[in-house]
Amino acid sequence: MKILIVGAIAGGSTVAAQIRRAVPDSEIILFGRDPVLGYGTCGMPYVIGGLIEDKWQLVGSSPEKFSEQRDITVKLGHDVLAINREQKTVEVRNMETDHVFTESYDKLILSPGGIARIPDLKGLGDLPLFTLKSFGDMEEIIDYIEREKPKSCAVIGGGFIGIELIENFIHRGLQTALIDRNERVMTLMDPEISQVLGKEMQDNKVDFYFEDAIERIEGKRLIMKNGMNFDVDFIASSIGIDLDTQLAIEADLHIGPTKGIVVNSYMQTNDPDIYAIGDAAECKDWFTGKPKNVKLAWPAHRQSFIVARHLAGNPIEMNGLLGTTITKLFALTAAMTGHSAKSLTDEGIEFGTAVYEGRTNAGYYPDHGSILLRVHYDEQSRLILGAQAVGDKGVDKRIDVIATAIMGKMTVDDLAALELGYSPPYSSPKDPVNMIGYKAR
Ligand SMILES: Cc1cc2nc3c(=O)[nH]c(=O)nc-3n(C[C@H](O)[C@H](O)[C@H](O)COP(=O)(O)OP(=O)(O)OC[C@H]3O[C@@H](n4cnc5c(N)ncnc54)[C@H](O)[C@@H]3O)c2cc1C
Repeated sequence: MKILIVGAIAGGSTVAAQIRRAVPDSEIILFGRDPVLGYGTCGMPYVIGGLIEDKWQLVGSSPEKFSEQRDITVKLGHDVLAINREQKTVEVRNMETDHVFTESYDKLILSPGGIARIPDLKGLGDLPLFTLKSFGDMEEIIDYIEREKPKSCAVIGGGFIGIELIENFIHRGLQTALIDRNERVMTLMDPEISQVLGKEMQDNKVDFYFEDAIERIEGKRLIMKNGMNFDVDFIASSIGIDLDTQLAIEADLHIGPTKGIVVNSYMQTNDPDIYAIGDAAECKDWFTGKPKNVKLAWPAHRQSFIVARHLAGNPIEMNGLLGTTITKLFALTAAMTGHSAKSLTDEGIEFGTAVYEGRTNAGYYPDHGSILLRVHYDEQSRLILGAQAVGDKGVDKRIDVIATAIMGKMTVDDLAALELGYSPPYSSPKDPVNMIGYKAR
C-alpha cells in the first residue's frame, strides 16, 4: 500500500511513524512545506523566553535519521498543490527548484494544520509585526530580539499563545502590553479564572488594553481606539488560526460548520481513501456529538493512532473531544476540560457549578499552594460537563483527574468518593477534587 502524507509536523510526522509500525510493508512518503520535521510547536514560546536555550531541542529527529530509522521517504520544502481524486494522484512542487511532479497514492492523509491570522493594521509601515506558528516564525522573533535589542512590545490577543508569549517577552525584559478586543484574557475559560490570570499579569507589570484595538500606527506609536497611545518596538499578533483547508476544498472534500474537514470516526473524509487529522479535521464534541474543532496536539496524536489502526485493518473509533488543555502564566497554571459556563449557556444546557477555593495541600507544609477549581455539572443526571482550575500548584492533576472522571461517566457526587493519594506536600486528606463532590451535594 502506498501512503502519502501532507504536513510533516505534529499530525503528519506522528501518523507516518504510527503507520510504519501498524502496516510494516507500506510505502510511506511524507511531504511538508516547513524545512524542519516534526518539531515541538508547543515549546516555541519558551525558546523565545530563553527558558529552553537551544531551539534544536524542540526537534525530535533530523529528516535523514527519521527516514533511515523508519524507512519513510521525507520530502520537506515540498508543497502539495492539488489532489486528483479520480486518478489518485497529487501534484507536488519542490519549493527550492520549483519543479512540479505527480505522485500516486493508495491512501492519502492530510494534516495541513492552519495559518496564523494577520491583523490589518493601518499605518504599520516599518514597525515589525510577528506571528508565532512555525519554527521559522520563532527563529525570526529570536533573531530580531537578539539583533535589534527591543525594549517594548505589544501582543494582540490574550488567548493561549498570547499569554505564553507575554510571559516569555517579560522574561526577556521587554515592557509588554496586551491588546484584546474582549474585556478579559482567556475567554475560553470562565470569567472567574480570567480574573486570577489578569491579576497575575498585573503583578508582573503587563499593561492592559482590553475592549480596545489599534486604530492606527504612526511610526512606533500605537494610537488606540479608546484614545490612549503608546510606543512599542514591535508587535506580536496571536489573534487565531485559519485552517489550511484550501487543498481539501479544491478536491471537493466536505468542509463542516467549524470550517474543518469533515471526517468519520476513523478520520476518513467523504473520500474513503483520504483521511484528515490534526487542527484541520472537524471532530465531535464529547457531550453533544456536535461538530467541534480542537486545535491542540493531543487530538493530532490520537488521530494518528486511529488512522494507523484503520489502515492496518484493526480499527478503533475516535471519541468526541473534551478539549482538555493547560497553560502556564508566570507562577500560575490554568487548565480546563469540557465545557465552560459560556459554552454551556450557548448550547442551552442547564447546569450547576461547584466551586472550591483554597489550598492544594496541607497549609502547615512550607510552600503550600492555592487553587480555584470550578466544576460544571448537569443538575438532573449529575454528570460532569466541564471543569476549570487556576492556581500555583497541582492544577494539572486536578483537571486530569476530572477529565478522566468525565470519560468514565462519573457524576459530580462520585468525586467525593475518589480515593486519591495524600501526603502533605501534595494534597490534603480531602483533596480539592473530593471537596467539589462534597460541595455539589
Ligand atoms: C506557539 C504555539 C504553541 C502551542 N502550544 C500548545 C500546547 O501547549 N498544547 C497543545 O496541545 N497544543 C499547542 N499548540 C497547538 C499544536 O501545536 C497544534 O494543535 C498541532 O501542531 C497541530 O498539528 P497539525 O499536524 O494539525 O498541524 P501542524 O503541526 O501545524 O502541521 C501542519 C504542517 O503542514 C504543512 N502543510 C500545510 N499544507 C501543506 C501542503 N499543501 N503541502 C505541504 N505541507 C503543507 C504546514 O506548512 C505545516 O508545516 C500550540 C501551537 C502554537 C503555534
